[in-house]
Order: sequence, then C-alpha cells, then structure tokens
Amino acid sequence: MIKITNFSITTENAAARLIQPLEINGEKMEIYAEVASENAKYFVTDRADALVIGILPLAQRQNYDIYSDLPISGELLYSLNNILIPMLAKYDSTLSNIKIHANPINTPVETCGAVGTGISLGADALTTIAQYHKHPVEKMRLTHFLSFDSGAFGGYFQESGWDFQANLIYQQQQALADEINLPLIKINSNLTKLIKLRTDVWAEYYSAYYVFSLGKLFSRYYYSSAGFDYSQFMIVPNSNFFAPNHYALLFNQVVSGNLTLLSGGGELTRYQKMQILSENPLAQKYLHSCLTQAFNCGVCQKCKRNLLTLDALNCLDNFSAVYDIEYYKANREEYFYYLCSLKKDNILALEHYLSETYNTLKARNPKTFAKIEEQFTAAKILELRKANKNIQNRLNFMFKFAKNPKSIENTADFFEQKGYKNVILYGQNGITDLLATLQSQLNINITHVVENTTRTTKIPRLPIKTVDYPPTDAVIICALNDKEVIYKKLQQRLTVPIHFANEILNHVKKD
Ligand SMILES: [Zn+2]
Repeated sequence: MIKITNFSITTENAAARLIQPLEINGEKMEIYAEVASENAKYFVTDRADALVIGILPLAQRQNYDIYSDLPISGELLYSLNNILIPMLAKYDSTLSNIKIHANPINTPVETCGAVGTGISLGADALTTIAQYHKHPVEKMRLTHFLSFDSGAFGGYFQESGWDFQANLIYQQQQALADEINLPLIKINSNLTKLIKLRTDVWAEYYSAYYVFSLGKLFSRYYYSSAGFDYSQFMIVPNSNFFAPNHYALLFNQVVSGNLTLLSGGGELTRYQKMQILSENPLAQKYLHSCLTQAFNCGVCQKCKRNLLTLDALNCLDNFSAVYDIEYYKANREEYFYYLCSLKKDNILALEHYLSETYNTLKARNPKTFAKIEEQFTAAKILELRKANKNIQNRLNFMFKFAKNPKSIENTADFFEQKGYKNVILYGQNGITDLLATLQSQLNINITHVVENTTRTTKIPRLPIKTVDYPPTDAVIICALNDKEVIYKKLQQRLTVPIHFANEILNHVKKD
C-alpha cells in the first residue's frame, strides 16, 4: 500500500521545497520538489496529481494500491483508474491493475497559461525548441524552459563528477534561454533517488511529476519524444520497454483540468529531427550529445551517432563549434566501421536512430562500406592481432626502458628541468606500473593514481569522477584510450601542466 498525506512548502535561503510525505509498504519517506523561492507560487498543494503520476510505475510493478488524503483532479483520477492503469495491466502480467483511492476535486488548477518544454540540449529538446519557440499560434508558442535531472542529466556523468558536469551544462542551458529571451526554471527532486526504477521505463512519468508539480504555471507542456516517431507506439507488453512506446496513450490520459501534456516531435524520426537542426543556428551552437563529458567527446555512442548523421546530411562543418569535425574527418572510416558493426549485430539503436543514416552513407560510399562489410570477420581478427602486437610492442618497450640507465636518466632530467616533484598519474596500466616502479630513480613522488578500483593499493587512488584534485606539480596521462578526451576533461579541472606519458617516454627514447 502507498499512502500520501498533506503537502507543505518550506523556504530556506533562496530555495522553496514542496514536501510530499509518502509511505510505501510501511516505510516513511518525504519526496520533495525544489525551485528558486520566487517560483514557489507555481506549486500545486491542494491535490496529489503530480505525485500519483510520478509513483504510478512503481505502484503498478509492486502491486500497491495508492491511498491519498489529498484529492486528485476528477478527470485525471477517472482516466488513471479506468483507462491507463487497466489498459497497461491488461497486456503485461508484471503490471498490476491497482486502484487509486482519493476524493475527486472538480475545480481546475488556476494556471498562468505558460507553455513549456525541457532544455536538455540534446537533439530532441532542440528540435522541440526549433518547432515551437516562434510558433505562429500563440497558445502553442514556448514561454518557459524547465530544467530538471532528466535527458542529458539523467544518471550520466557518474564517471566524471555529476555535479560538476551538470553545472557546466546548466550554464549552457541558461545561455541558450538568455539568447532567445525565455525564462528558465530549474526544478530538482529526490524522486528518482528514492524510487529506483530504470530511467528509460519511467522518464515520461517523472517528467510529468515535475510539470504537474508546477501546475499553477503551465497550461501546455511539450515533452520531447525520443529518436522514434509514433509508428513505434506499442503497449503489448510495456513494462520492460522504453516508456516512449506507450507515451501516446500516457499523454492522452494524463490530463488535469487546465494542463495538457503533449509530445514534442512525436511525428519525426531522429533523422528528420537532425535534418531540421542541420540549418538551425541554436543547434549549431548548443547541441550536446555526450554521455560522459560536458563537452562533446566525439567517441561515445551518442556523439558517434550524431556525427554520423550530420555526415549523412552533408552538414558536418556547420557543427564545428560543438564537435571536433577535423577528428571525425580524419577518422571517418573508423566511424563507418562502428556504424557497420551496429548493422551487423542488428542493434536496436540502428533501427530507431541510425537506419536512415546508414542507408544514406552506404549509398554515398558504396566501396568503403562494401570493403568494411565484406572483410568484417577478417578485419576483427586483424584488429585483435594488431592489438596483441601493440601490447607486445609496449611490453618490449617498457622492458628495454627499465633496463636502460640512459632512458631513466633522461626521463629524470625531464622531471627535474620542469621542476616536477609530486605528480599524479591518470589511468592504470603497464606505463603506470613502470613509472611507479621507477619513481625513486626518476626522483619523483607519485602521490595518486586516478583509477576506479576496490583493490587495496600502495599509492592512493582518486576515482575518475574527481573534480577537485589535490595539489600537484603535474598530471601525467598514462591511459591509452581516448587520451584527447581525458586531456580536455582535465583541462576543465586543473591549472597545472598535463602531459601524455608516452610522449615523455618516447621523447626521451629518441634522445
Ligand atoms: Zn561523447
């Protein structure tokens, strides 16, 4: 059983919280939604619409009826109890046909009539902004942005300092909002921390929680669809699929008096959205796709996906402010290889996000694609051999280096000339071990190694998400993969010199 009791608002410093006591199977907790205190006037406190929508996926999965001391908008209560909940339960045995017990309230929430959307800076949000920020129909035109921990903020960046990255992205969101002169409202909540469900199966629900919490502000809200259009609508079964597969039904039923939730871009595939964005100056300046960094790393799954699509659309150079286009062009075949490997493995992402990109690029580069695809198996074997050979070469090099007093002496000279005494190494591999073993001969003190590990280590570790580094003379990147991304990431965090280990060692080797 889930029990909801009366809400309250608290204000502390410049922030206001809507406190919503909740009891789940006897366990008491408080859900809060927090905004800047000047926006507290938009909180809805006389009904439990927002919280009920937010916790519905949990209640249906755990088979908990919901009892609310606060009323629920009559129209919404009817839709949930009689249409949405039974419909979802009918086609999925893991979702229960629960009941919501509350009194209906029939006066609608008085709203300011605002029209909002999220501002995650991803392709979907930017398309919604492109579609509606200058819409000729006034009641459809955007008046506000809402920023909350979803989309690009939803659980990513764990590896690189969540707060640090989120703050950098928030600054970009504010810059975009300022540029087109619309207010940005920031809202946070502990809902997703307390209700532990996979983000993709309930993102639409907790997003609706944020919007309905601010029900005195919005009369219309565009929730940006993901990379597929309405053709993917499906509720059979639905519990373990992306919520977008049934969002058309969800949005149709989650209605509450004066507030309507709509899909932004539900009529478009990702490729069509990128087509719209290809000529959009805001996208060219603000598009952010990265799963790991506050800048676009160019090598994670989502960065690769956008770069390939921009290539297919012949507009790479329009996006040189947000992506390293030169790197892409220099390594284009590797990106094609990635695309072909998705196609070969029949990965879901290709179907929904990249099939048009794949077809276009293949038609334009038939020989390259044929070469990659024909030799796929052989290429993989060759790649493995090459990787093994690289490991062998590295081991040989390290062995020779450790045996050669001249190499050690030259490296020690390098550290002395630079005045480096205390250094931090980034990454754990053979190079790290080599430097750690030789540190007394090199006359340096390795104070920390940046690595995620649960092993007990002699040299203290810093997790890779570290933002505030201890004082040091220099950081040496020992990691071999995505070195340039690590370099850029460290530049955001440190003012001391950053070096690549192989450059230091190879330079000395040549002398
Ligand atoms: Zn990335």
